[in-house]
Amino acid sequence: MIKPGLALLACLALPAIATENQLASAIARDYKATLEPLFKHFHANPELSYMEVQTAARLARELRASGFEVTEGVGKTGIVAILRNGPGPTVMVRADMDALPVEERSDAPHASKVKMKDMSGTMVPVMHACGHDAHMTSLVGTAHQMAARKGEWKGTLMLVGQPAEERTGGALDMMADGIFKRFGKPDYAMSLHVIADVEAGKIDVSEAPFSGADLMEIVVHGIGTHGASPHMGKDPVVIASQIVLALQTVVTRDIAPREAALITVGSFHAGSKGNVIGDSARLELTVRSESDDTRAKLLAGIKRVAENTARAAGMPEDKLPEIRHTDRPVPPTLNDNALMQRLRGVWSAKLGEGIFDKGYQRGGMVGEDYAHFIYGQGIPSVYFVVGATPAEQVAAARAGKGTLAYNHSPLFKVEAEKAIQTGVLATTTALLDLMKK
Ligand SMILES: [Zn+2]
Ligand SMILES: [Zn+2]
Repeated sequence: MIKPGLALLACLALPAIATENQLASAIARDYKATLEPLFKHFHANPELSYMEVQTAARLARELRASGFEVTEGVGKTGIVAILRNGPGPTVMVRADMDALPVEERSDAPHASKVKMKDMSGTMVPVMHACGHDAHMTSLVGTAHQMAARKGEWKGTLMLVGQPAEERTGGALDMMADGIFKRFGKPDYAMSLHVIADVEAGKIDVSEAPFSGADLMEIVVHGIGTHGASPHMGKDPVVIASQIVLALQTVVTRDIAPREAALITVGSFHAGSKGNVIGDSARLELTVRSESDDTRAKLLAGIKRVAENTARAAGMPEDKLPEIRHTDRPVPPTLNDNALMQRLRGVWSAKLGEGIFDKGYQRGGMVGEDYAHFIYGQGIPSVYFVVGATPAEQVAAARAGKGTLAYNHSPLFKVEAEKAIQTGVLATTTALLDLMKK
Protein backbone atom coordinates (compact mmCIF):
# COMPACT_ATOMS: atom_id res chain seq x y z
CA MET A 1 0.00 0.00 0.00
CA ILE A 2 1.39 3.40 -0.93
CA LYS A 3 0.84 6.26 1.56
CA PRO A 4 -0.82 9.39 0.09
CA GLY A 5 2.22 11.56 0.85
CA LEU A 6 4.36 9.25 -1.27
CA ALA A 7 1.94 9.08 -4.16
CA LEU A 8 3.85 11.37 -6.51
CA LEU A 9 7.14 9.64 -5.81
CA ALA A 10 5.46 6.29 -6.24
CA CYS A 11 4.02 7.38 -9.59
CA LEU A 12 7.48 8.23 -10.80
CA ALA A 13 9.17 5.16 -9.42
CA LEU A 14 6.49 2.49 -9.75
CA PRO A 15 4.07 3.40 -12.54
CA ALA A 16 2.68 -0.13 -12.78
CA ILE A 17 1.83 -0.41 -9.09
CA ALA A 18 0.39 3.13 -9.04
CA THR A 19 -1.94 2.15 -11.92
CA GLU A 20 -2.88 -1.03 -10.11
CA ASN A 21 -3.62 1.06 -7.03
CA GLN A 22 -6.26 2.89 -9.07
CA LEU A 23 -7.71 -0.49 -9.99
CA ALA A 24 -7.59 -1.62 -6.34
CA SER A 25 -9.36 1.59 -5.25
CA ALA A 26 -12.05 1.15 -7.89
CA ILE A 27 -12.58 -2.45 -6.72
CA ALA A 28 -12.75 -1.32 -3.06
CA ARG A 29 -15.42 1.26 -3.95
CA ASP A 30 -17.39 -1.32 -5.93
CA TYR A 31 -17.10 -3.75 -3.01
CA LYS A 32 -18.78 -1.35 -0.60
CA ALA A 33 -21.42 -0.25 -3.10
CA THR A 34 -22.45 -3.55 -4.73
CA LEU A 35 -20.26 -6.58 -4.08
CA GLU A 36 -20.63 -6.75 -0.29
CA PRO A 37 -24.46 -6.81 -0.35
CA LEU A 38 -24.33 -9.26 -3.28
CA PHE A 39 -21.99 -11.61 -1.37
CA LYS A 40 -24.26 -11.47 1.70
CA HIS A 41 -27.25 -12.26 -0.51
CA PHE A 42 -25.51 -15.27 -2.12
CA HIS A 43 -24.28 -16.47 1.29
CA ALA A 44 -27.69 -16.23 2.96
CA ASN A 45 -29.46 -17.94 0.02
CA PRO A 46 -27.42 -21.05 -0.89
CA GLU A 47 -28.75 -23.76 -3.21
CA LEU A 48 -27.62 -27.36 -3.70
CA SER A 49 -25.94 -28.74 -6.83
CA TYR A 50 -28.15 -28.63 -9.97
CA MET A 51 -30.72 -26.60 -7.97
CA GLU A 52 -28.91 -23.25 -8.35
CA VAL A 53 -32.01 -21.73 -9.96
CA GLN A 54 -32.34 -18.47 -8.00
CA THR A 55 -28.56 -18.18 -7.74
CA ALA A 56 -28.07 -18.52 -11.50
CA ALA A 57 -30.91 -16.07 -12.18
CA ARG A 58 -29.35 -13.47 -9.86
CA LEU A 59 -25.88 -13.97 -11.35
CA ALA A 60 -27.35 -13.66 -14.86
CA ARG A 61 -29.12 -10.44 -13.87
CA GLU A 62 -25.95 -8.92 -12.44
CA LEU A 63 -23.90 -9.79 -15.54
CA ARG A 64 -26.62 -8.55 -17.90
CA ALA A 65 -26.70 -5.26 -15.98
CA SER A 66 -22.93 -5.00 -16.57
CA GLY A 67 -23.48 -5.12 -20.34
CA PHE A 68 -22.91 -8.84 -20.97
CA GLU A 69 -25.02 -10.97 -23.32
CA VAL A 70 -26.17 -13.77 -21.01
CA THR A 71 -27.46 -17.24 -21.92
CA GLU A 72 -29.08 -19.28 -19.15
CA GLY A 73 -29.73 -23.01 -18.83
CA VAL A 74 -26.40 -24.14 -20.30
CA GLY A 75 -25.71 -27.62 -18.83
CA LYS A 76 -28.90 -27.56 -16.70
CA THR A 77 -28.53 -24.41 -14.53
CA GLY A 78 -25.27 -22.99 -15.93
CA ILE A 79 -24.88 -19.54 -17.45
CA VAL A 80 -22.55 -18.07 -20.07
CA ALA A 81 -22.04 -14.28 -20.25
CA ILE A 82 -20.27 -12.75 -23.24
CA LEU A 83 -18.79 -9.27 -23.63
CA ARG A 84 -17.42 -8.62 -27.14
CA ASN A 85 -14.85 -5.89 -27.59
CA GLY A 86 -13.49 -6.20 -31.12
CA PRO A 87 -11.07 -8.75 -32.59
CA GLY A 88 -8.74 -10.37 -30.08
CA PRO A 89 -8.45 -13.41 -27.84
CA THR A 90 -11.41 -15.12 -26.22
CA VAL A 91 -10.78 -15.61 -22.50
CA MET A 92 -12.99 -17.66 -20.22
CA VAL A 93 -13.32 -17.03 -16.48
CA ARG A 94 -15.34 -19.58 -14.57
CA ALA A 95 -17.03 -19.44 -11.16
CA ASP A 96 -18.95 -22.31 -9.55
CA MET A 97 -22.36 -21.65 -7.99
CA ASP A 98 -23.46 -24.56 -5.79
CA ALA A 99 -23.57 -24.95 -2.01
CA LEU A 100 -23.33 -27.98 0.30
CA PRO A 101 -25.70 -29.91 2.60
CA VAL A 102 -24.02 -28.48 5.72
CA GLU A 103 -25.69 -26.73 8.67
CA GLU A 104 -23.92 -23.40 9.12
CA ARG A 105 -22.45 -22.76 12.58
CA SER A 106 -20.34 -19.70 11.74
CA ASP A 107 -21.06 -16.50 13.66
CA ALA A 108 -21.64 -14.47 10.47
CA PRO A 109 -24.70 -12.17 10.72
CA HIS A 110 -25.70 -13.28 7.21
CA ALA A 111 -25.27 -16.99 8.09
CA SER A 112 -27.50 -19.37 6.14
CA LYS A 113 -30.67 -20.70 7.73
CA VAL A 114 -31.76 -22.36 4.49
CA LYS A 115 -33.12 -25.89 4.30
CA MET A 116 -34.08 -27.57 1.04
CA LYS A 117 -34.87 -30.98 -0.39
CA ASP A 118 -31.86 -32.79 -1.84
CA MET A 119 -32.01 -35.04 -4.91
CA SER A 120 -33.37 -37.94 -2.85
CA GLY A 121 -36.15 -35.74 -1.41
CA THR A 122 -34.63 -35.47 2.07
CA MET A 123 -34.81 -32.04 3.75
CA VAL A 124 -31.24 -30.88 4.47
CA PRO A 125 -29.60 -27.68 5.74
CA VAL A 126 -27.66 -25.82 3.04
CA MET A 127 -24.56 -23.64 3.34
CA HIS A 128 -21.99 -22.04 1.08
CA ALA A 129 -19.32 -23.98 3.00
CA CYS A 130 -16.86 -24.03 0.09
CA GLY A 131 -16.90 -20.31 -0.72
CA HIS A 132 -18.58 -20.50 -4.13
CA ASP A 133 -20.54 -17.41 -3.06
CA ALA A 134 -17.22 -15.52 -2.98
CA HIS A 135 -16.35 -16.91 -6.44
CA MET A 136 -19.60 -15.64 -7.98
CA THR A 137 -19.22 -12.24 -6.31
CA SER A 138 -15.64 -12.01 -7.62
CA LEU A 139 -16.91 -12.87 -11.10
CA VAL A 140 -19.39 -9.98 -10.94
CA GLY A 141 -16.66 -7.66 -9.61
CA THR A 142 -14.43 -8.66 -12.53
CA ALA A 143 -17.33 -8.04 -14.94
CA HIS A 144 -17.74 -4.51 -13.52
CA GLN A 145 -14.03 -3.67 -13.89
CA MET A 146 -13.70 -5.12 -17.40
CA ALA A 147 -16.88 -3.38 -18.59
CA ALA A 148 -15.60 -0.08 -17.20
CA ARG A 149 -12.21 -0.52 -18.92
CA LYS A 150 -13.22 -1.49 -22.45
CA GLY A 151 -10.74 1.05 -23.77
CA GLU A 152 -7.86 -0.95 -22.28
CA TRP A 153 -8.53 -4.39 -23.82
CA LYS A 154 -9.73 -6.19 -26.92
CA GLY A 155 -11.28 -9.58 -27.62
CA THR A 156 -14.16 -11.54 -26.15
CA LEU A 157 -14.64 -12.07 -22.44
CA MET A 158 -16.59 -15.22 -21.57
CA LEU A 159 -17.78 -15.46 -17.96
CA VAL A 160 -19.15 -18.83 -16.89
CA GLY A 161 -21.40 -19.64 -13.92
CA GLN A 162 -21.03 -23.39 -13.48
CA PRO A 163 -23.46 -25.62 -11.61
CA ALA A 164 -22.79 -28.69 -9.48
CA GLU A 165 -19.06 -28.48 -8.83
CA GLU A 166 -19.56 -30.38 -5.59
CA ARG A 167 -21.05 -33.29 -7.53
CA THR A 168 -18.20 -33.01 -10.05
CA GLY A 169 -20.72 -33.02 -12.87
CA GLY A 170 -21.56 -29.43 -13.78
CA ALA A 171 -18.55 -28.68 -15.98
CA LEU A 172 -19.06 -31.94 -17.88
CA ASP A 173 -22.73 -31.06 -18.39
CA MET A 174 -21.82 -27.63 -19.78
CA MET A 175 -19.34 -29.35 -22.13
CA ALA A 176 -22.00 -31.88 -23.15
CA ASP A 177 -24.29 -28.90 -23.88
CA GLY A 178 -21.69 -27.68 -26.39
CA ILE A 179 -20.47 -24.60 -24.50
CA PHE A 180 -17.42 -24.10 -26.77
CA LYS A 181 -19.36 -24.87 -29.97
CA ARG A 182 -22.10 -22.42 -29.03
CA PHE A 183 -20.02 -19.62 -27.56
CA GLY A 184 -16.53 -20.14 -29.03
CA LYS A 185 -13.51 -22.04 -27.78
CA PRO A 186 -11.43 -19.85 -25.45
CA ASP A 187 -7.79 -19.03 -26.21
CA TYR A 188 -7.18 -18.91 -22.47
CA ALA A 189 -9.14 -20.00 -19.40
CA MET A 190 -8.96 -19.08 -15.74
CA SER A 191 -10.61 -19.91 -12.45
CA LEU A 192 -10.01 -19.37 -8.76
CA HIS A 193 -10.93 -20.94 -5.43
CA VAL A 194 -10.94 -19.47 -1.92
CA ILE A 195 -8.99 -21.72 0.45
CA ALA A 196 -9.09 -21.59 4.25
CA ASP A 197 -5.37 -22.14 4.84
CA VAL A 198 -4.23 -19.29 2.57
CA GLU A 199 -3.97 -15.76 4.05
CA ALA A 200 -6.82 -13.43 3.05
CA GLY A 201 -5.45 -10.78 0.69
CA LYS A 202 -2.99 -13.20 -0.93
CA ILE A 203 -2.99 -15.81 -3.68
CA ASP A 204 -1.03 -18.90 -4.64
CA VAL A 205 -0.49 -20.45 -8.04
CA SER A 206 1.15 -23.83 -8.64
CA GLU A 207 1.61 -26.35 -11.45
CA ALA A 208 -1.09 -28.76 -10.26
CA PRO A 209 -3.61 -26.90 -8.09
CA PHE A 210 -6.07 -29.81 -8.04
CA SER A 211 -5.79 -33.56 -8.51
CA GLY A 212 -7.58 -36.04 -10.68
CA ALA A 213 -10.08 -38.26 -8.88
CA ASP A 214 -11.45 -41.73 -9.62
CA LEU A 215 -14.29 -42.96 -7.40
CA MET A 216 -14.45 -46.73 -7.54
CA GLU A 217 -15.86 -49.82 -5.90
CA ILE A 218 -14.49 -53.33 -5.54
CA VAL A 219 -16.97 -56.13 -4.98
CA VAL A 220 -14.99 -58.96 -3.39
CA HIS A 221 -16.63 -62.34 -3.83
CA GLY A 222 -16.34 -65.17 -1.33
CA ILE A 223 -18.11 -68.45 -0.74
CA GLY A 224 -20.58 -68.27 2.12
CA THR A 225 -20.55 -70.80 4.94
CA HIS A 226 -20.95 -71.24 8.73
CA GLY A 227 -18.73 -68.97 10.83
CA ALA A 228 -17.49 -72.05 12.71
CA SER A 229 -16.59 -73.95 9.51
CA PRO A 230 -14.54 -71.45 7.49
CA HIS A 231 -12.78 -74.31 5.63
CA MET A 232 -16.08 -75.05 3.87
CA GLY A 233 -16.12 -71.65 2.10
CA LYS A 234 -13.98 -68.61 1.29
CA ASP A 235 -14.19 -65.67 3.69
CA PRO A 236 -14.69 -62.37 1.76
CA VAL A 237 -14.02 -60.30 4.91
CA VAL A 238 -10.49 -61.71 5.16
CA ILE A 239 -9.84 -61.34 1.41
CA ALA A 240 -11.18 -57.76 1.38
CA SER A 241 -9.12 -56.87 4.47
CA GLN A 242 -5.96 -58.13 2.76
CA ILE A 243 -6.88 -56.11 -0.34
CA VAL A 244 -7.28 -52.91 1.75
CA LEU A 245 -3.79 -53.32 3.23
CA ALA A 246 -2.16 -54.45 -0.03
CA LEU A 247 -3.60 -51.40 -1.85
CA GLN A 248 -1.45 -49.16 0.36
CA THR A 249 1.64 -50.77 -1.14
CA VAL A 250 0.54 -49.73 -4.65
CA VAL A 251 1.15 -46.11 -3.65
CA THR A 252 4.32 -46.73 -1.63
CA ARG A 253 5.96 -49.40 -3.87
CA ASP A 254 4.72 -48.85 -7.45
CA ILE A 255 4.77 -45.03 -7.61
CA ALA A 256 7.92 -42.91 -7.49
CA PRO A 257 8.20 -41.26 -4.05
CA ARG A 258 8.08 -37.69 -5.43
CA GLU A 259 5.00 -38.38 -7.54
CA ALA A 260 1.63 -37.40 -6.03
CA ALA A 261 -0.64 -40.42 -5.61
CA LEU A 262 -3.29 -41.56 -3.15
CA ILE A 263 -5.62 -44.48 -2.57
CA THR A 264 -8.15 -44.22 0.26
CA VAL A 265 -10.61 -47.01 1.02
CA GLY A 266 -13.33 -44.95 2.64
CA SER A 267 -16.02 -47.58 2.95
CA PHE A 268 -15.97 -51.34 3.78
CA HIS A 269 -19.25 -53.20 3.98
CA ALA A 270 -19.59 -56.93 4.56
CA GLY A 271 -21.45 -59.56 6.49
CA SER A 272 -24.72 -59.76 8.39
CA LYS A 273 -24.01 -61.76 11.56
CA GLY A 274 -21.05 -62.90 13.65
CA ASN A 275 -21.44 -66.61 12.97
CA VAL A 276 -22.12 -66.31 9.24
CA ILE A 277 -19.44 -66.06 6.56
CA GLY A 278 -21.13 -64.11 3.79
CA ASP A 279 -20.49 -64.38 0.08
CA SER A 280 -19.30 -60.84 -0.67
CA ALA A 281 -17.72 -57.65 0.67
CA ARG A 282 -17.85 -54.21 -0.90
CA LEU A 283 -15.12 -51.62 -0.77
CA GLU A 284 -15.46 -48.02 -1.95
CA LEU A 285 -12.35 -46.06 -2.71
CA THR A 286 -11.08 -42.78 -4.04
CA VAL A 287 -7.97 -42.70 -6.18
CA ARG A 288 -6.07 -39.43 -6.73
CA SER A 289 -3.30 -38.60 -9.18
CA GLU A 290 -1.84 -35.69 -11.14
CA SER A 291 -0.63 -37.36 -14.35
CA ASP A 292 -1.99 -39.91 -16.84
CA ASP A 293 1.00 -42.15 -16.21
CA THR A 294 0.52 -42.26 -12.43
CA ARG A 295 -3.21 -42.75 -12.81
CA ALA A 296 -2.68 -45.70 -15.17
CA LYS A 297 -0.23 -47.27 -12.69
CA LEU A 298 -2.67 -46.82 -9.79
CA LEU A 299 -5.63 -48.31 -11.69
CA ALA A 300 -3.52 -51.24 -12.94
CA GLY A 301 -2.14 -51.75 -9.42
CA ILE A 302 -5.64 -51.87 -7.91
CA LYS A 303 -6.70 -54.53 -10.44
CA ARG A 304 -3.52 -56.58 -9.92
CA VAL A 305 -3.73 -56.47 -6.11
CA ALA A 306 -7.47 -57.20 -5.91
CA GLU A 307 -7.47 -60.08 -8.41
CA ASN A 308 -4.30 -61.74 -7.17
CA THR A 309 -5.24 -61.46 -3.50
CA ALA A 310 -8.46 -63.31 -4.34
CA ARG A 311 -6.48 -65.88 -6.38
CA ALA A 312 -4.10 -66.38 -3.44
CA ALA A 313 -7.12 -67.14 -1.25
CA GLY A 314 -8.18 -69.81 -3.73
CA MET A 315 -11.06 -68.00 -5.43
CA PRO A 316 -11.86 -69.38 -8.90
CA GLU A 317 -11.26 -67.24 -12.01
CA ASP A 318 -14.97 -66.60 -12.53
CA LYS A 319 -15.33 -65.18 -9.00
CA LEU A 320 -12.49 -62.70 -8.93
CA PRO A 321 -13.27 -59.21 -7.56
CA GLU A 322 -15.29 -56.86 -9.76
CA ILE A 323 -13.76 -53.40 -10.04
CA ARG A 324 -15.71 -50.49 -11.46
CA HIS A 325 -16.09 -46.72 -11.39
CA THR A 326 -19.03 -45.41 -9.34
CA ASP A 327 -18.81 -41.87 -10.72
CA ARG A 328 -17.35 -40.07 -13.70
CA PRO A 329 -13.59 -39.67 -13.30
CA VAL A 330 -12.29 -36.13 -12.84
CA PRO A 331 -9.02 -35.28 -14.61
CA PRO A 332 -6.35 -33.30 -12.74
CA THR A 333 -6.46 -29.50 -12.97
CA LEU A 334 -3.02 -28.75 -14.38
CA ASN A 335 -1.82 -25.23 -15.08
CA ASP A 336 -0.23 -24.40 -18.41
CA ASN A 337 3.35 -23.71 -17.44
CA ALA A 338 4.04 -20.87 -19.89
CA LEU A 339 0.79 -19.10 -19.02
CA MET A 340 1.39 -19.61 -15.30
CA GLN A 341 4.89 -18.08 -15.54
CA ARG A 342 3.48 -15.18 -17.55
CA LEU A 343 0.72 -14.43 -15.03
CA ARG A 344 3.01 -14.93 -12.07
CA GLY A 345 5.27 -12.27 -13.61
CA VAL A 346 2.32 -9.94 -14.29
CA TRP A 347 0.97 -10.31 -10.74
CA SER A 348 4.41 -9.82 -9.24
CA ALA A 349 5.13 -6.71 -11.35
CA LYS A 350 1.73 -5.10 -10.91
CA LEU A 351 0.62 -6.20 -7.45
CA GLY A 352 4.03 -6.79 -5.82
CA GLU A 353 5.58 -10.05 -4.58
CA GLY A 354 3.57 -9.63 -1.36
CA ILE A 355 0.47 -10.81 -3.24
CA PHE A 356 1.79 -14.40 -2.98
CA ASP A 357 1.32 -16.39 0.22
CA LYS A 358 4.80 -17.90 0.35
CA GLY A 359 4.00 -20.01 3.41
CA TYR A 360 1.19 -21.97 1.76
CA GLN A 361 1.87 -25.65 1.22
CA ARG A 362 -0.76 -27.61 -0.63
CA GLY A 363 -1.26 -30.75 1.46
CA GLY A 364 -4.26 -32.78 0.29
CA MET A 365 -5.23 -34.01 -3.17
CA VAL A 366 -8.60 -32.36 -3.71
CA GLY A 367 -10.35 -32.75 -7.09
CA GLU A 368 -12.05 -29.98 -9.13
CA ASP A 369 -14.38 -30.58 -12.03
CA TYR A 370 -13.18 -27.37 -13.75
CA ALA A 371 -10.65 -29.78 -15.30
CA HIS A 372 -13.39 -31.01 -17.67
CA PHE A 373 -13.32 -27.61 -19.42
CA ILE A 374 -9.63 -27.77 -20.24
CA TYR A 375 -8.27 -31.33 -20.01
CA GLY A 376 -7.26 -32.54 -23.47
CA GLN A 377 -8.79 -29.39 -25.02
CA GLY A 378 -5.50 -27.63 -25.72
CA ILE A 379 -6.68 -24.50 -23.87
CA PRO A 380 -3.90 -22.89 -21.82
CA SER A 381 -5.38 -22.42 -18.37
CA VAL A 382 -4.41 -21.06 -14.99
CA TYR A 383 -6.24 -21.92 -11.79
CA PHE A 384 -5.14 -20.02 -8.69
CA VAL A 385 -6.19 -20.05 -5.05
CA VAL A 386 -7.22 -17.01 -3.02
CA GLY A 387 -6.82 -16.65 0.74
CA ALA A 388 -9.98 -16.88 2.85
CA THR A 389 -8.76 -16.53 6.46
CA PRO A 390 -7.23 -13.62 8.43
CA ALA A 391 -3.41 -13.75 8.35
CA GLU A 392 -3.03 -14.11 12.14
CA GLN A 393 -5.30 -17.18 12.22
CA VAL A 394 -3.40 -18.76 9.32
CA ALA A 395 -0.08 -18.02 11.05
CA ALA A 396 -1.32 -19.54 14.32
CA ALA A 397 -2.51 -22.69 12.55
CA ARG A 398 0.80 -23.03 10.70
CA ALA A 399 2.64 -22.70 14.02
CA GLY A 400 0.46 -25.47 15.47
CA LYS A 401 -1.26 -23.06 17.87
CA GLY A 402 -4.79 -23.28 16.54
CA THR A 403 -7.00 -24.96 13.99
CA LEU A 404 -8.71 -23.51 10.96
CA ALA A 405 -12.30 -24.06 9.93
CA TYR A 406 -11.46 -25.59 6.56
CA ASN A 407 -13.59 -25.53 3.41
CA HIS A 408 -16.71 -27.73 3.89
CA SER A 409 -16.68 -27.14 7.69
CA PRO A 410 -19.90 -25.73 9.26
CA LEU A 411 -17.64 -23.02 10.73
CA PHE A 412 -16.01 -22.05 7.40
CA LYS A 413 -16.11 -18.28 7.04
CA VAL A 414 -14.55 -16.37 4.16
CA GLU A 415 -12.87 -13.07 5.04
CA ALA A 416 -15.08 -11.76 2.25
CA GLU A 417 -13.86 -8.19 1.88
CA LYS A 418 -10.23 -9.14 1.33
CA ALA A 419 -10.88 -12.41 -0.50
CA ILE A 420 -13.30 -10.94 -3.03
CA GLN A 421 -11.28 -7.81 -3.67
CA THR A 422 -8.14 -9.93 -4.13
CA GLY A 423 -10.00 -12.28 -6.46
CA VAL A 424 -11.24 -9.38 -8.61
CA LEU A 425 -7.85 -7.64 -8.57
CA ALA A 426 -5.87 -10.75 -9.58
CA THR A 427 -8.39 -11.80 -12.24
CA THR A 428 -8.77 -8.32 -13.76
CA THR A 429 -4.99 -7.74 -13.76
CA ALA A 430 -4.51 -11.07 -15.57
CA LEU A 431 -7.29 -10.34 -18.09
CA LEU A 432 -5.97 -6.85 -18.87
CA ASP A 433 -2.62 -8.44 -19.70
CA LEU A 434 -3.97 -11.38 -21.74
CA MET A 435 -6.35 -9.11 -23.67
CA LYS A 436 -4.30 -5.90 -23.79
CA LYS A 437 -4.65 -3.59 -26.77
ZN1 LIG B 1 -16.06 -27.89 -2.13
ZN1 LIG C 1 -15.34 -25.55 -3.94
